[in-house]
Amino acid sequence: MKAIIFGPPGSGKGTYASRLRAKLGVDVIAMGDIFREIMKEDSPLGKKVKQYVEKGLLVPDDVVIEVLKQRLAKSSSKKGFILDGFPRTLEQANALDKIVAIDVVIKLTAPDSIIIERLSTRWICKSCGEVYNVRYLKPKVEGLCDRCGGQLYQRPDDTAKVIKERIQVYERQTQQILQHYKEKKVQFVEFKCEILDMAPDVAVESILRDLKTLKLA
Ligand SMILES: [Zn+2]
Repeated sequence: MKAIIFGPPGSGKGTYASRLRAKLGVDVIAMGDIFREIMKEDSPLGKKVKQYVEKGLLVPDDVVIEVLKQRLAKSSSKKGFILDGFPRTLEQANALDKIVAIDVVIKLTAPDSIIIERLSTRWICKSCGEVYNVRYLKPKVEGLCDRCGGQLYQRPDDTAKVIKERIQVYERQTQQILQHYKEKKVQFVEFKCEILDMAPDVAVESILRDLKTLKLA
């Protein structure tokens, strides 16, 4: 299965992708992680990526494609992959078509109100990165991490106004790309989250059912 997963911030995209990896044996290729990995390498491509990232510049499409190509070639799973965080532009989608044919787009949606509620009540541990939620995933001691005792903080961009802007950016970015795959008659598996504190397995089981119907799982 060659899949791409799309979902707004707070849709649970990363969580679902890693559970699908465990259930299906596919590789999850998250662009953010690949960049971090490649910058640690002493390779020409790693150095190139580092140059842009260190200057706070956007890595150009041709470099991103090169990084992805290398990562896909290294993918050890014969079961396929789920791409997360790529493509972000129509140009990247076109370039991806030349490397590999995508079987399915997994599209997650959630009402703005749920995304805002989830992200604006999210607290993160300064020391270990553990994520809490003041509504339904409370730490035992207020403000402190259960795991390591570290201090919890709220990301400065996790406020309702900024979250709304991030949702709009996401929608602008992905609309054209989703349209691109519809025109190419790529299959879609959609999951709409209607419950604020839904158990991840509910979503994952629904996605798996749909993938099985399409004979992709
Ligand atoms: Zn911690």
